[in-house]
Amino acid sequence: MIYDLIVIGGGPGGYAAAAEASKKGLDTALIERDRLGGTCLQRGCVPTKAYLHAAYEGIDKTEMLNHKNEIVDTLTDGIAQMLRTAKVTVYQGNGMLMNTQPPFAVEVKLADDEIEEIQGHRILIATGSKPARIPVTGCDDPEVWTSDDLLHENGSKPFDSLVIIGGGVIGVEMACIYAKIGVAVTIVEAEKNCLPMMDKELSRSAEGLLRGMGVTLLTSTRLTGIAKNDHGFLVTAQKNGEQEIICDRVLLATGRRAQTSGLFAQGAEIAMERGTIVVDRDFQTNVKGIYAIGDVNGIYQLAHVAHAQGLAAVAHMRGRRVPVDTQLIPSCVYTTPEIASVGITQDEAKAHGTEIVVGKALTTQNARSMIENLGRGFIKLIFEKDTGILLGAQLFCGRATDFLGELTLAISLKLTGKQLLGTMRAHPTFYEAVGEAVEKALGKK
Ligand SMILES: Cc1cc2nc3c(=O)[nH]c(=O)nc-3n(C[C@H](O)[C@H](O)[C@H](O)COP(=O)(O)OP(=O)(O)OC[C@H]3O[C@@H](n4cnc5c(N)ncnc54)[C@H](O)[C@@H]3O)c2cc1C
Repeated sequence: MIYDLIVIGGGPGGYAAAAEASKKGLDTALIERDRLGGTCLQRGCVPTKAYLHAAYEGIDKTEMLNHKNEIVDTLTDGIAQMLRTAKVTVYQGNGMLMNTQPPFAVEVKLADDEIEEIQGHRILIATGSKPARIPVTGCDDPEVWTSDDLLHENGSKPFDSLVIIGGGVIGVEMACIYAKIGVAVTIVEAEKNCLPMMDKELSRSAEGLLRGMGVTLLTSTRLTGIAKNDHGFLVTAQKNGEQEIICDRVLLATGRRAQTSGLFAQGAEIAMERGTIVVDRDFQTNVKGIYAIGDVNGIYQLAHVAHAQGLAAVAHMRGRRVPVDTQLIPSCVYTTPEIASVGITQDEAKAHGTEIVVGKALTTQNARSMIENLGRGFIKLIFEKDTGILLGAQLFCGRATDFLGELTLAISLKLTGKQLLGTMRAHPTFYEAVGEAVEKALGKK
């Protein structure tokens, strides 16, 4: 039998696209070699947030792991059920593309090493990414952990000190988790600031927060090597001279690279650039009928981006318009208080020569922030000067990740500051500060 669509990879990009395609009438198969849910559910978004929540509840590493496993198992079952309801045929095994001429053939190596070949008129590659081990001495040692290790059984092993290489989102969230449960954490970051890809004020706020939790920050510091010693590990790094840090454990949080191993049979490769699959604006590869979405195309490594790109690719297969704006990307860091950002920053506006007006409200006088004892925070909104349209938002406050959605919608709908003031905001909420930031931008405060 020939499927209308074969999806390879059952992460948030793949399973959402498969369900959507099937519901829209495409006879769809999904191939997953591990557990459904992908990085996001098994060793990414959900496990880290479960750990974070547990750490703030004051429970130990073993309970933290059990708490995470319960949530992950329930959600994994939920995805399997959802795919059954959507009538997607799920194959458990490794999928390998055998040719690049339609109908496309995919070989599935099942768990018992049996091989089954299936065919599809279209292919959607959603094979995600895996942790990158940087080419520095010692980083390829499997005893040097990645987030995959910490979010599985190794996460419950006893250790008192942890050096995290990389101060991006994963490094910062892991630092919060382990600092909160009493581990001595050091972050080594090559850039000038942690969260270097974010608005400077957000990065600085995150750094203040980490220092307040007792995390040692070594920024503008380049890792030069990791070696095992009697105690655990010796980490060497360079900043105006060599530094040495002795620790029990090392976590590499130095980015992720596309997962394409075992994906293409010889002669069935598709175009790749710097390790990621090249796609056009409809997420189609250089082969018509083969699409690649999510982490594997390297555009932006976030679960909701993979999900949105999956829906957009399915819409394109059906000759429809893209249902989601795949360019406007909200991003969040689950510190306490939370960090959230969408649209442009002040620096980006300056770089593009866009004239802007900035409205900023501090949350020190926000009743809800005071009630929850969240200390200093802020909401910063960036408006286009001429039109008053909201272009960007950067938040460092309670529940920032939840109400970022409304600001993302406002940017997407090109709402102005005046329109944002046209609705009531419930009291007491963190969100009230949005109104205040708009009033500041409009010169009303
Ligand atoms: C620690 C951590 C925390 C994160 N936190 C967040 C967060 O808070 N918010 C957020 O938006 N993003 C977060 N991310 C990123 C997010 O997990 C990824 O962007 C997202 O999972 C990508 O989805 P995907 O569908 O492209 O791929 P993946 O989720 O990686 O899924 C790919 C799937 O394909 C399977 N596969 C691979 N090759 C084959 C093959 N040949 N045959 C069959 N199956 C195959 C894999 O087993 C996997 O299940 C986090 C990542 C990490 C590591």
